[in-house]
Amino acid sequence: MRVRIDGENCSGHGRCAKYAPNVFRLDDDGYNADRGNEIDVPAGEEDKALLGIKACPERAISIVDA
Ligand code: SF4
Repeated sequence: MRVRIDGENCSGHGRCAKYAPNVFRLDDDGYNADRGNEIDVPAGEEDKALLGIKACPERAISIVDA
């Protein structure tokens, strides 16, 4: 699975990393550290990644390739 984190919509809530700490990393300000980029979800972390995607109040994370 490959996902994209929108660089403009991410508002630093940090919920993505709470639900999927092995997928989403936060920077020192609480924003997704990969905003503006696509990342590959590690094998076995897909379910947690989906929880993190759903938990994002800004809908900033989208699935590029399931
Ligand atoms: S939950 Fe959404 S808005 Fe918050 S840090 Fe993660 S991607 Fe950004």
